[in-house]
Amino acid sequence: MHLLSFHATQVSGKSLMAAEKPKKSKVELIKEASVGLRGKIVEELADATTDHVEDATTKLLKFHGTYQQDDRDLRKSRRKEGLGKAYSFMVRNRIPGGKMTAAQFLGELDIADELGNGTIRITTRQSIQLHGVVKDNLWGVIHRINEIKLSTQSACGDVTRNVCCCPAPLRQNKLRDQLQQLADQIAVHVRPTTGAYHEIWIKDLETGHREQVAGSPTEAEPDPIYGNAYLPRKFKIALALCEDNCVDIYDNDLGLLGVTEGDQLIGFNVLTGGGMGTTPSKKNCFPALSKRLTFVTPDQVLPIITAVIMVQRDFGNRADRSQARLKYTIHNMGLPAFKKKVEEYLSEAESICGMPTGLLPRPLPEPHPADVTGHDDHMGWHEQGDGKWFLGLPIENGRVKDDGDLRLKSAFRVLFENHVTNCRLTAQQNILLCDIEPSQREVINQALADHGVMTMEQISNARRFSFACPALPTCGLAVTESERVLPSVIDDIETELNDLDLADEQFSIRMTGCPNGCARPYNSDVGLVGRSMDGKTGEGRYTVFLGGNLRGNQMASVYKDQVPRSEIAATLRPVFLHFKEHRQPGESFGDFCDRIGVQALGTPS
Ligand code: SF4
Repeated sequence: MHLLSFHATQVSGKSLMAAEKPKKSKVELIKEASVGLRGKIVEELADATTDHVEDATTKLLKFHGTYQQDDRDLRKSRRKEGLGKAYSFMVRNRIPGGKMTAAQFLGELDIADELGNGTIRITTRQSIQLHGVVKDNLWGVIHRINEIKLSTQSACGDVTRNVCCCPAPLRQNKLRDQLQQLADQIAVHVRPTTGAYHEIWIKDLETGHREQVAGSPTEAEPDPIYGNAYLPRKFKIALALCEDNCVDIYDNDLGLLGVTEGDQLIGFNVLTGGGMGTTPSKKNCFPALSKRLTFVTPDQVLPIITAVIMVQRDFGNRADRSQARLKYTIHNMGLPAFKKKVEEYLSEAESICGMPTGLLPRPLPEPHPADVTGHDDHMGWHEQGDGKWFLGLPIENGRVKDDGDLRLKSAFRVLFENHVTNCRLTAQQNILLCDIEPSQREVINQALADHGVMTMEQISNARRFSFACPALPTCGLAVTESERVLPSVIDDIETELNDLDLADEQFSIRMTGCPNGCARPYNSDVGLVGRSMDGKTGEGRYTVFLGGNLRGNQMASVYKDQVPRSEIAATLRPVFLHFKEHRQPGESFGDFCDRIGVQALGTPS
């Protein structure tokens, strides 16, 4: 029997350390008992007497790409009326590299209109989320997403999430196509092998959910990479090129940074252990940028990824979820010991990938000196290099909807039905409309103007490089607003920047409704992290972080804590002034803040 056909904590002698740990979190027990992520999902979906599912099923549904949520705006009034929570589901797609056809985008709009809340949201991992899906519609939504040849499998949960990759369709050379093809290969390779997803969401269920249960396996199919308990926590992978870190590669559990010689991709620096989430009240929690582990050639990518995932599977913390991300495994082991452990797993990894043992050198080499040097958000019109064009269109906080004069959703219907065949979603929650004939450019510009959609040239840099997580009312973890208030905060910041003649500066402003960091605030130039809510006014208070940058390879530091939303711009003004007066030539705002240090900021001389 293959070593990996056992449960993760029984996988092999190497797993001894994990097997000796008796204590497991509740989620671990749910995963183990789930029979390949099936649990009671089918029964609970079929139960017409309730509008929600139980906690264990909520946990398992994440692996299928959906979170149970409730409308927090309605909690109080419903409680007064003696009603329970207003439950609905968020459904997240898995779209490697954010690559979609026009038909798929239109399909998502249709599903949102017919079975969701009528909006879609482009996520920070190049995917699409639908919100407001009631339980009765959940099966229909996921089934229909599969009908348009997309999937939600492992878009959430303790597995490898959507694989991110620079989405620009630049064909002046082969580099981005190579990256995107590799992202597709990785996505297939790390997809869980359980048949549960297909059974529950894709099979024709005319016979009813309960009969599906009767035919379901009673023992889980062992997953060659994940075992039967999957990973201790989520696992994120991204691919980028040094001069264009548009996917924030250092924020991922595993980053592949392409190293090139001329137009040739010679390999990747493997970065491990990035992650933004933290719990401020716990001293042992922290956000982290990934660490440079080794260098691999393109044909060695799948086995190195597999080995890193298996080490995390076997040595990640399964007792305390706040300590379960790979960054903590590496922190506790130390990078040299972690690297040695990865080397020990290489033979199994090579075997799983169907590659010859010894394909990767042992010991693993040092990383190549190449590192991130730039960032490109790909907004505006660009020649693709194949006679066609693409248009990068900023979408405020990724939300696609019709709202007053801004009829973004209607604009996309016109464009995708008539003028655009393909698109790609960016990790800044924007969209690239791709493969456009030169003759269509003016028509597209006009269609956007007719629907009140502003292009890159018509919005400020502050707005262009900002984004927020959803937070209230849907996220159960939110302590403050985020998506709903960031536009007004940007209004205020724009006023200050205009006043100081700094409007041309390019720097990132990212807001989250809690310290979990879904919008990657901890390495942005200005990070605004929700900390508390004023009980009387309902105004949120935020921790202001300064000192990251658009390149994404520098951590920000706390500048001020508990800043009321209405005072954020005024709090930043003295720092902007300091920047204006003391910056070095060409220095970005975040680099300036990092060089000066947060202690010295805010007191311009
Ligand atoms: Fe929710 Fe916090 Fe993530 Fe925002 S950062 S989506 S509030 S968990």
